[in-house]
Amino acid sequence: MTQFLRPSVRAMAGYTPGEQPRDEVFVKLNTNENPYPPSPRVLAALAEALTGERLRKYPDPHGTAFRHAAARTFAIDPDGILIGNGSDDVLTILTRTFVPEGGLIVAPSPSYLLYRTLADIQGAHFQTVPFTPDWRLPRPWPVRGASLTFVANPNSPTGTLVPTADLERLAEEIDGPLAIDEAYVDFAPENALRLARRPNVIVTRTLSKSYALAGLRFGFAVADPALVREFNKVKDSYNCDTLSLAAAAAAVLDQDYLRETRGKVLATRARLTDALRGLGFEVLPSQANFVWCRRPDRPVRAIYEELKQQHILVRYMSYAGYGDGLRISVGTDAEIDHLLAELARLA
Ligand SMILES: *Cc1c(COP(=O)(O)O)cnc(C)c1O
Repeated sequence: MTQFLRPSVRAMAGYTPGEQPRDEVFVKLNTNENPYPPSPRVLAALAEALTGERLRKYPDPHGTAFRHAAARTFAIDPDGILIGNGSDDVLTILTRTFVPEGGLIVAPSPSYLLYRTLADIQGAHFQTVPFTPDWRLPRPWPVRGASLTFVANPNSPTGTLVPTADLERLAEEIDGPLAIDEAYVDFAPENALRLARRPNVIVTRTLSKSYALAGLRFGFAVADPALVREFNKVKDSYNCDTLSLAAAAAAVLDQDYLRETRGKVLATRARLTDALRGLGFEVLPSQANFVWCRRPDRPVRAIYEELKQQHILVRYMSYAGYGDGLRISVGTDAEIDHLLAELARLA
């Protein structure tokens, strides 16, 4: 049957998510999950939604209650919100809406590897634009005519943040749609939500990281309501289930809880950054819930392997033309102490 495969699917490698070990116990610092549990209000909302009667029926295809909760929290128009089964689903919907077969997706590099996979699935071309040496966007932006441009901000794997003013300039400069992937923005000092009022900017968010709900699968996009109407034609009718919609609404309404866990993550991030530098790593200043570190003197693959043998998982990444590094999620203080003790032993 493989002769019937679309050539673009046959040729593509597929996205490789971070390891999710099931059998052994690891200190898991590889996929930027929040080390703290979700808000107790989320658990209460899930318990309330968990009835035979609620599950018997289809969920609200428009996620009305969630959109009103998010509209209230972020002071935005509920009609300018697209709901998604994780923000990866949102990114897929944007791709399917904007990018024709043979179209062009552009993203800075190094960045989130899924953008290339989305281009591959769509049968589109993918072009990267290297960040400048100080992790800003080049000016002028060197590509014209993209069907869709993705910028993760803060970026992964580097944790660096492009100022909102620079994104605004980029949105003015390019003629097509700009998707600003704010998966980590709750850990950063500024966000680009106000740019979603521009006709060509889509801001995407996820509940997986800052809200500690990676297992739930919920994300959303904020954009011009005229665009959201088009996205809604493309998405699966029931892309978000009853439980995730109830939990997501409760999560965005509990901003006090978010502030509390964010404070702890930021304190641990600062401590982790300093300690890694003390051990001889080059660490970029992170505005996310992970840090990106490299050795000026050697590749870091062996460190990744040794940590894994000690049941500590971090994310090893290597980019053509840039080199390799370790992306380490900010865990609990105890997890980070354990990691640092192992690294000190290895160094
Ligand atoms: C984690 C992540 C996402 C996707 O999160 P979901 O779990 O699918 O909501 C999107 N973009 C970036 C850059 C991420 O790191």
